[in-house]
Amino acid sequence: MQFRDLKAQYQRYRNEINAAIQKVLTSARFIGGSEVDELEKLLAEYVGVKHCITCANGTEAMTLVLMAWGITAGDAVFVPDFTFFSTGEVVSFRGATPVFVDVDRDTFNIDPLKLEKAVQKTAKEGKLIPKAIIPVDLFGLPANYPEIEKIADKYNLLILEDGAQGMGGSINGKRACSFGHAATTSFFPAKPLGCYGDGGAVFTNDDALAKLIQSLKVHGKGESKYDNIRIGVNSRLDALQAAVLKVKLKAFIKHELDDVNRIFQLYNERLDGLVEIPIIPEGYYSSFAQYTIKLKNKKQRDKLQAQLKEQGIPSMIYYIKPMHKQKAFANLEHDEKDFTVTNELCNTVLSLPMHPYLRIEDVEKVSETIRRNLI
Ligand SMILES: *Cc1c(COP(=O)(O)O)cnc(C)c1O
Repeated sequence: MQFRDLKAQYQRYRNEINAAIQKVLTSARFIGGSEVDELEKLLAEYVGVKHCITCANGTEAMTLVLMAWGITAGDAVFVPDFTFFSTGEVVSFRGATPVFVDVDRDTFNIDPLKLEKAVQKTAKEGKLIPKAIIPVDLFGLPANYPEIEKIADKYNLLILEDGAQGMGGSINGKRACSFGHAATTSFFPAKPLGCYGDGGAVFTNDDALAKLIQSLKVHGKGESKYDNIRIGVNSRLDALQAAVLKVKLKAFIKHELDDVNRIFQLYNERLDGLVEIPIIPEGYYSSFAQYTIKLKNKKQRDKLQAQLKEQGIPSMIYYIKPMHKQKAFANLEHDEKDFTVTNELCNTVLSLPMHPYLRIEDVEKVSETIRRNLI
């Protein structure tokens, strides 16, 4: 059993994927060109925003937005404490300061009440200027944008949606990667919509921001790549990845999202009452980058993971260490009392095999193994 079965996906779509790759090889147009342009158009339409700008990976997508916004030393950017390192890394990379905020125990996403407190505290201390929030759509579930938007309006903050795991999710029909002033995603192979290497994208309705990012991602280009009007980076999605993504986007929309949501229900039916199952609030839809359960304590979690492994069942701990405890952020001051939920989650979460090609027999085997070991 695979944790995320990319081989099964390839087998199902191998003819179309091979043909798409072959087409790029024959054209010998490896950078830019119609494959990338078409993909950007399809993604912008799917997400429901004006602009999609592809780039090298999800981390760089966030960096490009922060660069364009001029986020720099002395600025505070609010980031959930329970996320992949990248979300905080990009803030420090720009010389700004990430302020970590505890998450909601049910959704795993940034806690709006604690977010507002952190903004007030930072403003009151006066050492840093609150500038932006980077909510993360963790495990495929959009963050609480209705509440986060109120806070952003009240304190005049920018919102960058980190939709690296969020593509395909929605709130009352509004799709992930369309929230905030800008959003980003990652096409890392294991993400909900993944390519066969690295890739990422920025989404926005802001014409000026889109134009600036188009320039920044190509060495700060002006009229052309050889007319350079600012310092930028080289960050692009190549044509092979775009061609693969065009095939995969079709499957993603056609059945993969439904399939992971069906598996979510199948797991829930078998695991409810035995462990804490994922909670999807009313009106929210998850793309299930992960199906994550909560155990009673670290001992029970670690033991269960070992027992699953013995049965050949892969599982993962996302995340074993909160952001505020990462050595790279050791220079930042923090109070453990502010992170009670994240600290608990790091000890109790366990992500089970989850992907659109998981068979019902696999769900049954995983669930039965958990039942046997917990009862
Ligand atoms: C994967 C991920 C990223 C980074 O994406 P890359 O394409 O690997 O750079 C950022 N944020 C979150 C929450 C992620 O899961």
